[in-house]
Amino acid sequence: MGRGFNWRALKAHRVYTLDEVCVALRCGPSTLKRILQEEKVQVIDEQAPFLVIGADLIPALRSRSKKEALAPGQMFCLGCKSPSFPDAGLVDDVSKPKQPPLLQALCSGCGAVMSRRVARDQLDVFLKAASQR
Ligand SMILES: [Zn+2]
Repeated sequence: MGRGFNWRALKAHRVYTLDEVCVALRCGPSTLKRILQEEKVQVIDEQAPFLVIGADLIPALRSRSKKEALAPGQMFCLGCKSPSFPDAGLVDDVSKPKQPPLLQALCSGCGAVMSRRVARDQLDVFLKAASQR
């Protein structure tokens, strides 16, 4: 997935031409066409210029940029590009003194190094959830 788009630049109650959407989102026409296709956004295309309703486009853009929340014990693996649990529940604390715990572990899916900073009062919950995998 590419960068998120600034859906706040669009108004739900406005109707946009595709060119106007490109300017608002700062993207090219082919990128916009791909997004409209992938998200199955309804385009009013009986005649030029093709139109798009803000209320149709905004939820599609929002859902594309939504991050998955990590469950306790989970870390985000940059190798798999998805949340993953530590391999064998083994987690290292590599934080410096007086800093919140910075944890490192190997991905159970691909073996890449993952890291996650955890609030100190969440550390026990995190380690318990990680070790139960
Ligand atoms: Zn991985």
